[in-house]
Amino acid sequence: MRWATKDFNTLFVEPERTTPPKGAAPPSYVRKTFRVDRAIASASIHLSACGLYRAFINGLPVTEQVFLPGFTDYRYRLQYQTFDVGHHLSKGENVIGVVLGDGWYRGKQGLLDLQNVYGDKIKLLAYLTIQYTDGTTGFLHTDPSWKATQQGPLRMSDLKDGASYDATLEMQGWQFPGFDDTDWHAVLPSSYAGALIPTEGVPIREKEAFQPTILTTPKGQQVLDFGQNLAGYVRFVVKGPKGHTVKLTHGETLDENGNFTLQHLKPRGRFQEIHYTLKDGHQSFQPCFTLHGFRYVWLENWPTAVQAKDFTALAVYSDLKPVGEFHCSNPQINQLFSNIKWSQKSNYVDVPTDCPTRERGTWTGDFAVFFKAGCYLMESNAFAQKWLNDLLISQQPNGLVATHIPSQGYEKFTRYQGSCGWGDAAVIIPYDFYEMYGDVAILERHYKSMKRWVDYLCQKAQRSHWTSWLKRNPYRAYTLDTGFHFGEWNEPNSSMAQQQIKNLLFPDAEFATAYFAHAVDLVAKVADILQQETDRERYRALFKKIKQAYQYNFTTNGIIHQNRDAKYVRPVFFELIDAPQRKENIQILNDRIVANGYQIGTGFLSTPFLLPVLCDYGYVDTAYKMLENDRSPSWLYSVRKGATTIWESWEGLNEQGVPKDSLNHYSYGAVVSWLFNYCAGIKPLLPGFQKIQLKPYPGGSLKQVHCRFKSPSGPIAVTWELDQGFFNLQISVPVETVVSLPDGTTSRK
Ligand code: BGC
Repeated sequence: MRWATKDFNTLFVEPERTTPPKGAAPPSYVRKTFRVDRAIASASIHLSACGLYRAFINGLPVTEQVFLPGFTDYRYRLQYQTFDVGHHLSKGENVIGVVLGDGWYRGKQGLLDLQNVYGDKIKLLAYLTIQYTDGTTGFLHTDPSWKATQQGPLRMSDLKDGASYDATLEMQGWQFPGFDDTDWHAVLPSSYAGALIPTEGVPIREKEAFQPTILTTPKGQQVLDFGQNLAGYVRFVVKGPKGHTVKLTHGETLDENGNFTLQHLKPRGRFQEIHYTLKDGHQSFQPCFTLHGFRYVWLENWPTAVQAKDFTALAVYSDLKPVGEFHCSNPQINQLFSNIKWSQKSNYVDVPTDCPTRERGTWTGDFAVFFKAGCYLMESNAFAQKWLNDLLISQQPNGLVATHIPSQGYEKFTRYQGSCGWGDAAVIIPYDFYEMYGDVAILERHYKSMKRWVDYLCQKAQRSHWTSWLKRNPYRAYTLDTGFHFGEWNEPNSSMAQQQIKNLLFPDAEFATAYFAHAVDLVAKVADILQQETDRERYRALFKKIKQAYQYNFTTNGIIHQNRDAKYVRPVFFELIDAPQRKENIQILNDRIVANGYQIGTGFLSTPFLLPVLCDYGYVDTAYKMLENDRSPSWLYSVRKGATTIWESWEGLNEQGVPKDSLNHYSYGAVVSWLFNYCAGIKPLLPGFQKIQLKPYPGGSLKQVHCRFKSPSGPIAVTWELDQGFFNLQISVPVETVVSLPDGTTSRK
């Protein structure tokens, strides 16, 4: 069938007759009636939209998937979906009905609530193919004979702001034959300029359902507590006077006094609100085209006594296959594990985001930090590949990789683009993908892009900060001391605003040079895997130079003298320091941590490397003391404070319960890799777990660990127990495995 060709790009229609002012357009309802006069063998429909669509045929939804057509960089590519709809059709008159919302195309995006990022008009594409039993085929597609209205019950819908629905405006039977649509208007012909592609993503579905408990706060607010922070929405039933409006506001936490709050998310006006106007009788409602990050819902104007059974919170996310389980004898760690899973679910809604609330930002850096860890929890290959394709297509000719992928309109803030640690996603994620899934094709596909990012960094390094000239730095060309870099980001007790200003004024050359070296090192490794000898030698030599530059500028003969933990962790993990000095530096780090009461001192970027470097250099005891510490800043502090997801800041709720920043950011959850790789001891020795290392590191208070991981090479199970001084290990592995026991003995299986 001729699909995804230019012809189909011209079959879009616009349901709005004029260009609406930003954010002011009620969703459109679109319908088309048509006759079927012969017996149908099968039928399928292709659907896509600039915006979000929900489609019905004769009142039946064509799919249970939500947030279609998904989020890609619409400047270049737009997905379409295909559904079998033979059983939706019948002889006689039939109706296709579609509701269209703003979604990622035109709705609010990111921290600054940018709107109309991809355009100011929403568009629909539908193409129905019917195979008749007599062997003939019929086609029907969107064209100006389709009709539309904006007078339906859905008055507004925005992913961030929420939705308004007036049930008194419901148009009885609009999705069915026989409905009088004479006051609906004709749609306008339209087109889409980018590439139409078959859906690449993982379907987004409504998953777990939660029932609330009901609270009355000190302020007298009626609040539903669903017990779990999540991304999704609430289905409810209600009965009350016609025309009465109820309001549901969704939030992550209560404040220090036990009242509902959104202040920590710094909303700009309306945010995560559902306004529902009642019709007559008993009715039920569930929003569409909007998604909230929440555990609590503040109910206003509820017309009757609030009953828990009338509300269900639905978690909504990309339906990735769960692959990892971890359970141990410390219940706080088990809760931490659950919190990480929930932050992944909440932030894997077709694209990886920082949080499901304040920004829903498609930040490259956050995904680079978490992607590998996430692979231990949910099978992330298709999810990541779709995202990586958006990265490829949007990379600038000079190699620059935007801070947000897919675009959320932020590349116009050019000053903030090209940060190390964020743009490095172009190298880190394909490399991690290869390690986790053993797929060389991903490296082949991304090789040029990786090199372009590194070449971009080389060019940046050619420009030097004036201090480099003053210092007569002989390694100026290998020291990355220009441009904007977010830096380690969110170290304990740091303010995000102050960090931004500082980073703008004084680029963190140590941080940037370390990432520069790391990216080059990874590209050299990839060149080796792909047998690109010339490149391999070139990048190896370059890595050597940057490493020398790093040591010259930021160490004294390889010894680091800094007052932040990240400054020790990263260069050791990236092997920018030679082996003997690495040991010495980690000893200094360990001393700092001990002196600091085993509290965490690192931010987003180096926290994932912290426990691994401690264990690799023999400080297993320190690693466990940090992991099991529940005084802030620490992982288990949030657990002690009742968190059900991972917080953006170590101080998400202070001891008094004052909330700060987002409470659902997965970055610090990257520690889950350590639980699999060190605590349980499962590591790939060959990409894709074609060969495995099993080397558990028992420690801390743990008496028992059970861990399962469905690796791409087959299921792995590990159970270890400490019993009266004996270490018992049970394993089940699918491929050749090198087993190392804590006493140093090694065997092969
Ligand atoms: C986001 C982060 C992001 C960062 C950039 C924040 O506002 O929430 O997760 O990576 O900005 O530094």
